[in-house]
Amino acid sequence: MLTEQTGGVLARHRYRRIANLANLSTPIGLVVGLVGGARPSRGPRGLVLAGGYRLPVPDAVAFTIGNVVVARMPAQDLLHRPALLAHEERHAWQYVALGGPLYWPVYLLTTTWSWLFTGDRASHNLLERAAGLADGGYRERASRRQRRARRSRVGRRRGASDRRGVPPGQAR
Ligand SMILES: [Zn+2]
Repeated sequence: MLTEQTGGVLARHRYRRIANLANLSTPIGLVVGLVGGARPSRGPRGLVLAGGYRLPVPDAVAFTIGNVVVARMPAQDLLHRPALLAHEERHAWQYVALGGPLYWPVYLLTTTWSWLFTGDRASHNLLERAAGLADGGYRERASRRQRRARRSRVGRRRGASDRRGVPPGQAR
């Protein structure tokens, strides 16, 4: 039987493959992978796994363009990281939803927003959040304002314990 579990390509995966081919994101992903020294291979659910990417940008263990999951690790290793692969696969759906190349300006905008808000590229990045922060290996960071508030609370507590003669290292 053709199921997701057996790695078969279901109708929705075929639809994703055709959509990302037509919106040109998958061909662009293949070119980016090849330029970076990655070797494309057939992955599960109609994905292409391009392992062995070597360029310094982007600063990520893996990234997705269309249906192509480009990774620094060998493609085979990606298959043993199901959470990471699921995260990247959700990005492949986002390319379908945004019609391909529109993904990049949206990604840039939401990355900038996240960075301004939290000092971190992913924590408040809509596309990364929708793809699953933990699955992508990201830790959610509080906003700059929340961190400032926390620091000043800790500072006040530390000040109070200093006055009681407790060494600051033990009061935390
Ligand atoms: Zn991601």
